Amino acid sequence: MDFRGRELWIGIGIVAAVLAVLAGILGFAIGRGHGGAARPLVCLDPGHGGRDTGARENGVAEKDVNLDIALRAKQLLEAMGYRVIMTRENDTYVSLAQRCAIANQAGATVFVSIHNNARPPDAAGTTTYHNFNSPNGERLATYIQWGVVARIKRPDRGVKEKNLYVLRNSAMPAALLEGVFLTDATDARLIAQAQFRQKMAEGVAAGARDYLNSR
Ligand SMILES: [Zn+2]
Repeated sequence: MDFRGRELWIGIGIVAAVLAVLAGILGFAIGRGHGGAARPLVCLDPGHGGRDTGARENGVAEKDVNLDIALRAKQLLEAMGYRVIMTRENDTYVSLAQRCAIANQAGATVFVSIHNNARPPDAAGTTTYHNFNSPNGERLATYIQWGVVARIKRPDRGVKEKNLYVLRNSAMPAALLEGVFLTDATDARLIAQAQFRQKMAEGVAAGARDYLNSR
C-alpha cells in the first residue's frame, strides 16, 4: 500500500467511526439501547383528575394521591432505565378514551393505571385488576400486586379480572391498581403520608420491572 492508499484507508476509518458514533447517539435518542432492542416504554395512568375527583373520603381526594404515586413511580422507573409516559402529569381531566389513545399511539410496552378504592366501608387493602383473557395482563397485575403488598403491608385482596374501559382498550398488557381504601380510617391515614405513597410507588415500579424482566 503506498502512502496515498494508506491515507485513504485512514480517512475511510475515521468516517466509519464518526458514523458509528452518530448511529449510537441516534439509537439512544429513539430509545434503543446498545443491544439494539427497544427499551421498554411504561405508560403510567393516574386515575381521575380535574373535575373528576374520584373517591373523596377522610379528607383525601383520590385524584391527588393517584397522581403523586404515579409521579413517584415515574422517577423510580426512569432511574431503572425505562422510558415512561404519563396520561396526565398534573390535575387535569383526561377521558378514558384519551388515556388509551396516549398509550396505544406511543406503542407502550405496558399500561399501569393507578387508583385508590372506596367502599364498602369495612374493606381495607390492595387489589390489582386485569382484563379477561389476558395472560400477560394477569402476570403484570400479579407482579404489581406482589410489589405493592410487600412494601405497604396492607391486606392482600388479590388479583382479579374486571371489565374496565382502560384495561379493555389498551393494546398492551394492562393492570389497574386499587392501592388502598380511602374509606378505611387506617388506609386513609397512611396514604396521606408521603412516605407511604413512596412505598406504593416503589411497589408499582418493582412490579412493572419484574414483569418486564420475566418476558
Ligand atoms: Zn379511581
